[in-house]
Order: sequence, then structure tokens, then C-alpha cells
Amino acid sequence: MPPVHEFDLIARIRQRAAARGDVVLGIGDDCALLLPPPGMQLAVTMDALNVGVHFPPDTAPADIGWKALAVNLSDLAAMGAQPAWGTLSLSLPQGDPGFVDAFFDGFFALAAQHGFALVGGDTTRGPLSIAITAHGLVEPGRALRRDGAREGDDIWVSGTLGDAAGALRQWQAGAAISPVLQARLDRPTPRVALGLALRGIASSCIDVSDGLLADLAHICRASGVGAEVDVDALPASDALRAAFDPDTRRVLQAAGGDDYELCFTVPVTAAAALGEALAEAGTGATRIGTVTAATGVRPILAGAAWSAPATGWQHFA
Ligand code: ADP
Ligand code: MG
Repeated sequence: MPPVHEFDLIARIRQRAAARGDVVLGIGDDCALLLPPPGMQLAVTMDALNVGVHFPPDTAPADIGWKALAVNLSDLAAMGAQPAWGTLSLSLPQGDPGFVDAFFDGFFALAAQHGFALVGGDTTRGPLSIAITAHGLVEPGRALRRDGAREGDDIWVSGTLGDAAGALRQWQAGAAISPVLQARLDRPTPRVALGLALRGIASSCIDVSDGLLADLAHICRASGVGAEVDVDALPASDALRAAFDPDTRRVLQAAGGDDYELCFTVPVTAAAALGEALAEAGTGATRIGTVTAATGVRPILAGAAWSAPATGWQHFA
């Protein structure tokens, strides 16, 4: 398709943006007008994806659209917020309507799953880059934060770890990429239902984007505690187990990143409530460790201190 003008692109986007009762005015004016429910807090987050940094140049446009929204919804999930509205800055090398249509196939497929309304944005010319601001709703005092972990709490993580990093590793090695791992890289699942179900149960929560150990360290710093993590307990998919030797797999799980799972802490007294929350959310989770008074994150394998073997990282260099 030949390039089109900015306003034609915006018109294509506007046509597809879903309505929501609390959007008084959506795309088309200088601002959107939104009507937050009385008494609710807004959870606001922003994440950008740049070509060549956050995704390879040959990534399918629909996957870019999905992922750009998914990483933002994952932040809302980590706070226990219900996704509501967002704005999108789109920087494009050309006004390519084919790219824009495919991008929004992925974007709106995920938005529809969560009743998320696109209410505005900006469209400019430049290197391919996408930035989204997402707004969610949460009752005052009920948001899941990083600073509530306490000594003795159990540490949990949802889903499986290392799949996206495994796909990236295969891609970098020029090897065949396992379809299951590829899907986890391109179309991460934001754990929105789990985040909502954990309100009032989890003492702290974070989404895993930079690697489990690194993100757990954020919880520990914010909470003034430490953590002991059982490396063998980290959940792995069958696809990851099939594709990598155990040493490499553990590195991908512990430090790979791009998982968009939730890592959260739960007081031992809330174990039964957690079971119900997991069932309600329909999301699996695994207990991977314990919060300690001693600060720092200590991964342990077979009773000894573990750290990612240096060889595990050289392929990334
Ligand atoms: P202005 O110059 O007043 O900022 P624009 O011409 O940039 O307005 O945008 C026109 C309308 O289209 C605005 O409502 C804006 O929010 C919306 N818009 C522009 N780009 C996007 C986009 N990529 N996604 C969603 N809405 C967009
Ligand atoms: Mg503008």
C-alpha cells in the first residue's frame, strides 16, 4: 500500500477504537475526556518499545502491537489495577497503512480481552518506536506495591520463566526457534486476572521484565528485606526443558527477562486465600522461596549458593 498522510492513519485507528461507557470523548479532539468512577485511584504507567532494542526489525507488526500493549498491561497487573484507558505514541519511518493495520490487529486483539480503550495519542515520522501510557483503576489502599514484603513471607511466581529469553537465545544463535518459545517472546500474556485476585492477599508484587532475580531484588530493596530462592523450584515449560541443557535453562529462568509473569510475596497465614485466588484467576503459580530479614537475593541450588555461570552469558555478548 502507498504511504498515506498522518490524518488518514489516525482515521484508520479511530475507526477501530472500541467504545467504553466512561470515555466521554475519545480520539479526535485535543484531549480525551474520561470519567473515572468516584473514589477510585488511577494507576498510571508508561513503557516504550524501540526497534532493534526491544524487538528485532523483522518482528511481525501484529506482534509489535500486541507486545507494546502487553508490557503496559503487565505493569497494571503487577499493581492489581483493572485496565481502563490508554494513549499511544507511534513513530513510523513511513506512513505505511499496511503496517498500521497489522499493528492494530495485534494491539486491539489484546485490548479487547481486557476492555482497554485507546483514547488518544500522537503519530509522527521517525525511527519505529511505540510508547504507550496505560491507566488502570484500583480501590484506595488495595494496590499491590513493591514495599510490603515481610520476613517469613512465601515468594511466588506465576506461569513459567525463561521462555522468551530462550527464544531470543535461539534467534541469536541462528538456530531454529521453538514455536512455543517464540509465542512467549512475541505475545506475552499480561497476568491481569491474577493481579486483581491477589489484592488483599499478596504483601508485594512486581512483574518480571528484567529477569526474576533482578526484579525480586527490587521488591527486596523497596521492602527492606532479602530473599532466599530455590533455583530448582523456578517453573519451566516443557518447551524450555526440551530446548536447553539444565545449566543454560536455569540462567534463562533466573535472569533471562521478558517473562511478564508476576513475582509476589504472600504471608504464610494467607496460603489458603492464595489457593482460592489462583483458582479464581485460572493462573498457575509456584512457590520459589522465602523472604528473609537478611537483605539481598540469595539463589540456592542443591544446598549451595548459585549464580549464573559466566559461560551462560557469553552468547549474548
Ligand atoms: P493535536 O495536534 O491536537 O495533538 P493530532 O493531530 O496529533 O492532534 O491528533 C488528532 C487526534 O488523534 C487526537 O485526538 C489524538 O489523540 C489522536 N491520535 C493521534 N495519533 C494517535 C495514535 N497513534 N493513536 C491514537 N490516537 C491518536
Ligand atoms: Mg499531536
